Amino acid sequence: MHTTRFAPSPTGHLHLGHALAALTAWRRARESDGRFLLRIEDIDPGRCRPEYTRDLMEDLAWLGLDWDGEVRMQSEHMADYAGVLAALAARGLVYPCFCTRTEIERETTASGSAPHAPGGAPIYPGTCRALSPREREARIAHGDPRAVRLDMGAALGITGPLWFIEEGEGPRACAPERFGDVVLARKDAPASYHLCVTNDDAQQGVSLVTRGVDLRPATDVHRVLQTLMGWPAPIYAHHGLLTDPAGRRLAKRDRAQTLRDMRVRGLSPEQVRAAAMMLGLGKSGSPGCEL
Ligand code: GLU
Repeated sequence: MHTTRFAPSPTGHLHLGHALAALTAWRRARESDGRFLLRIEDIDPGRCRPEYTRDLMEDLAWLGLDWDGEVRMQSEHMADYAGVLAALAARGLVYPCFCTRTEIERETTASGSAPHAPGGAPIYPGTCRALSPREREARIAHGDPRAVRLDMGAALGITGPLWFIEEGEGPRACAPERFGDVVLARKDAPASYHLCVTNDDAQQGVSLVTRGVDLRPATDVHRVLQTLMGWPAPIYAHHGLLTDPAGRRLAKRDRAQTLRDMRVRGLSPEQVRAAAMMLGLGKSGSPGCEL
């Protein structure tokens, strides 16, 4: 019996790729007589819009996907995320970071080697990890904008080697160090994706995480947080991404292929569901499938 979830960010309208993600999670829950949860990942105030939340619920209902229980809005759980940060801070596992993006780029370039994390961002060189408690206090008192970073080295010293279970593959070794000291709270949002997603999967009892293969590397970071916090590890099933004919993955910013457009063009929910599942068939973990 699986508890699964669909966890979109309301930054645009859902497209066929989201339909595949939602259907996969929904089917796995229903097949196992489990629970399918809907979680709205709306922690980024600059990009998320309530109307997209409203529209995506309408799209899911149109597709015939029903969810169990209350919809969890991440923006309503900021106190939970702050609590996790405080627990990590009490153990000396996080630190405030005052660096700007430009400063980080300058520093990584100056160091000669510019290692990049999966996804392409430069690995944080650890500048603010070295600040003394006095320097930190002075900058906080001065009101300098700050993010909060995980001290990955210290964290891995506690967790030791980690792995996650990828369905159909078995245990996969994690290499979270390739992300460096990840951000757990941003300057403009008091919690980051990694923090919220692991907290919520644990609090909501999610036992099977189905999501796009683009997020598979992030699972390594999620295992670190789960282990530090004593949260259970779900099983993971990363699925392939649908792409356009040019091989680019579908994005919300492209108007084409949104579920709304398909509906307006007269496609039935059954046709859209069939298209999403057919295009996604056999795409487990593969980079994509042409539309
Ligand atoms: N909110 C993420 C997205 O829209 C998905 C998070 C997850 O499944 O872990 O891509």
